[in-house]
Order: sequence, then structure tokens, then C-alpha cells
Amino acid sequence: ESSERWRAVDEYLTTTLIGEDAGLVRARRECRLAGLPDHEVAPNQGALLSLLARMRGARRVLEIGTLGGYSTIWLARAAQHVTTLEIDPEYARLALLNLERAGVADRVDVLVGPAADSLAGLVAAGAEPYDLVFIDADKPNNPRYLEASLLLTRPGSLIVADNIVRDGAVVDPASADERVQGVRRFLELLGSDPRLDVTALQTVGAKGWDGFAVALVR
Ligand code: SAM
Repeated sequence: ESSERWRAVDEYLTTTLIGEDAGLVRARRECRLAGLPDHEVAPNQGALLSLLARMRGARRVLEIGTLGGYSTIWLARAAQHVTTLEIDPEYARLALLNLERAGVADRVDVLVGPAADSLAGLVAAGAEPYDLVFIDADKPNNPRYLEASLLLTRPGSLIVADNIVRDGAVVDPASADERVQGVRRFLELLGSDPRLDVTALQTVGAKGWDGFAVALVR
């Protein structure tokens, strides 16, 4: 079956290319032990986030959707500061533990609550611009997260969003799935905003058939 081949190739690429350190391996394991959904990025995707942050020379990173902090650790290994937003206090608590064990807790702020509120708080507080934003939370709110991201970035910043293909469902304008509709609206905004240069790629791998979008703030 093709999904098994996709997984096998991801495992091969990860074994061959990706140095997942002990903190990352442990974070993933703790998430499974605590029964969190396995919705964190795959190791090779985490490495891509880290490379994008480093290519950008990112000092400050904003992450929307923490889960157990797996992608947060990748980003915190690449930048001086990460602000990460999580609605679930239990997930946030595990994330903090994982960040501590990975030795990056001192460079991460975990803000607990609905991301829309946390983002409004950051805007109101006049937060210093972020160099990279990773959008990976509740997909119906993606359009809103994009709007806030544009207020919290500057020319040269990157905005990355995960899960934009959803097993191909993204092409269905009549989809009853509000996540699909959120992603479609988000992509329309990305494609029509003169402040952004964008692309998106579909991917297959250990996490199935999906994709990500990357935008550069002009
Ligand atoms: N970025 C993580 C990683 O790769 O390790 C995975 C994040 S997971 C796909 C999405 C997370 O967003 C979940 O932990 C979920 O609780 C959180 N979330 C969902 N709705 C949210 C909201 N309104 N505000 C903040 N976080 C939310």
C-alpha cells in the first residue's frame, strides 16, 4: 500500500539525514505516553522548520499550536526566542516539561489560552516583530492567524502553515469540513495579499498526504 511506502521512505530519509537529539526523541515519547494525539510534525519536517529559521537568520519565532512542544524544540534550537501558543493547559504543561528536558525552556514562552486572544495580547503589547511564524493549530482560524501574523512580522519574515492539503480535500469548494474551509480561505488570502510572496507544496510521508505553505513578507 502506498502509505506504507511513504512511511518507509520517511523513515529512510530520517535515519539517513536527520539528527534527532535526545530532547526531541524524548519529547515525542512523552507525548505518546501521555496520550496526546500524534499531530506533531515528522522529524524531517521539524528539521525543515529549523533550516528555514536558520536560513532566515531568525532571532524571534512565533508558533501557533504547541501540543507537547516537539516542533517548539526544533525551532528553539534554531532561534534565540520562541513564543508558542496553546489552548490546552495539560498539553502546555507537558510541553514545558519537554522544553526543560531539552534544555530550551529559558528561550521559550508558552502562552496558554485561545491563540486568537494571545495574538491580540501580543499585538496590544507592541511585541517586537517575529522573523518566522509557524501556524499549526485549529485550521478554521487560519485566516485570523494570518491577519495577526501580518501585524506581528516585518518585511523579510516568513510565515509557514502546516496541513494545507488534508488528503486532497482542499480542492473541494463544497467541503462540509470547516478545517478544509478554513484552509481554503487562508490560501485565498495568501494568494491575493500583495504584502506576501508565497508558494505551497503537497507532501506524502509518515503523516500521510498533506502539505505546507510558505510565505515571505515583502
Ligand atoms: N506544532 C506542534 C508540533 O508539530 O509539535 C503540533 C500542534 S497540533 C497540530 C495543534 C495544537 O493546536 C494542539 O495542541 C491543539 O490543542 C492546539 N489548538 C487547537 N485550537 C487552538 C486554539 N484555538 N488556540 C491555541 N491552540 C489551539
